[in-house]
Amino acid sequence: MKPFNYDSYNCRVVFGADSINNIKAEVEALKSKKALVISTPGRLDIAKKIDDLLGDSSVGIFPDAVQHVPIETVENCLEIVDKVKADSLIAIGGGSAIGLAKAISLQSAIPIIAIPTTYSGSEMTPIWGITEKGQKKTGNDPIVKPQVVIYDPVLTTGLPKHISVTSGMNAIAHCVEGLYTRNSNPVITLIAEEGIRTLFAILPRILENPSDLEIRSEALYGSWLGGTVLGSVGMALHHKLCHILGGSFGLPHAETHSVVLPYVIWYNFSHIPEATEIMARAIGSKEEDVAGSLFDLALALGIPMSLADLGLKEHDLDQAAELAIINTYYNPRPIDKSLIRQLLQYAYQGKRPEPGNFFVDTEKQIQ
Ligand code: NAD
Repeated sequence: MKPFNYDSYNCRVVFGADSINNIKAEVEALKSKKALVISTPGRLDIAKKIDDLLGDSSVGIFPDAVQHVPIETVENCLEIVDKVKADSLIAIGGGSAIGLAKAISLQSAIPIIAIPTTYSGSEMTPIWGITEKGQKKTGNDPIVKPQVVIYDPVLTTGLPKHISVTSGMNAIAHCVEGLYTRNSNPVITLIAEEGIRTLFAILPRILENPSDLEIRSEALYGSWLGGTVLGSVGMALHHKLCHILGGSFGLPHAETHSVVLPYVIWYNFSHIPEATEIMARAIGSKEEDVAGSLFDLALALGIPMSLADLGLKEHDLDQAAELAIINTYYNPRPIDKSLIRQLLQYAYQGKRPEPGNFFVDTEKQIQ
């Protein structure tokens, strides 16, 4: 067995239908008397329900969270936090609402209770991001990691199918990279395999029956596992590419993860035999066809299949490849600019990654 380090964060997880009904007790357990509820405008109805459940423990709702945590929103929210003397933040929603709470906590050390309603996994990580003058700064600080996470599947039965399956693919990507990142370890490998198995099986079933509570519970369980992996170990080339495509070219977060993932697995294939074996076992595919099988999953889910579908221009691919080799992350296969350019070309075209190493044998390249 290889030597490893394992960092875990102290976090209470409350999982189950209607578990938000105990929100007041969770706030009191943190010794908080002035909770501020944070949501995006679209989740105001659920935010109001939480505000009601909190009664005199709530100091109100900040319903203006938006994607990518603009600094202006952080400043507005901080002003309210100071004014009402909030001593806990209740973030209800996806990565956007939770991201705003993290940005506030980064400056104030106020604890967060997260109530995720998508599958992107931000609630389980110490990773924060703030966008200023068009640039998204990110960092890692244990202070922003939510102290309590409430997973209530009832809140997700109305999550639109498209957001459900794309944020679910985002969670699969966390699990995949957790299998081969530099600081991977046996515990995270177990969690990642279970996450991939759970999400691969359940995402198509959400499309058939989006309001089924059992299906939504399984999906939320898978997303918890994905978030745990992302929050415990570093990521690799896939997350770097998605960060570039989102940050510098404005591509949508979850859809970009879904499009790029099969091509990064394809690129890394010859360097990740153990991870490939685990992924194949989790999804029931042949090892050489893991990338293709994840591509087939996305196709079955009816989500965008190429960077062109997401609005990237072909002339942007050169710049994206340039950016990928600057401050690059760890990756099991060395980062080679011309091969990354090739990977991006494949992702731009959106053709199925077939078994075989297309990043060595140029004769096999997709036309
Ligand atoms: P999101 O929070 O942006 O939500 C997407 C949309 O879904 C929003 O319009 C939201 O109002 C709506 N929505 C959420 N829950 C709903 C529900 N139950 N019913 C109906 N609509 C609902 O999406 P996301 O994918 O969760 O988060 C993306 C953001 O999170 C990105 O900015 C990304 O960078 C960040 N993120 C951060 C981390 C981290 O560890 N820091 C991890 C993953 C994602």
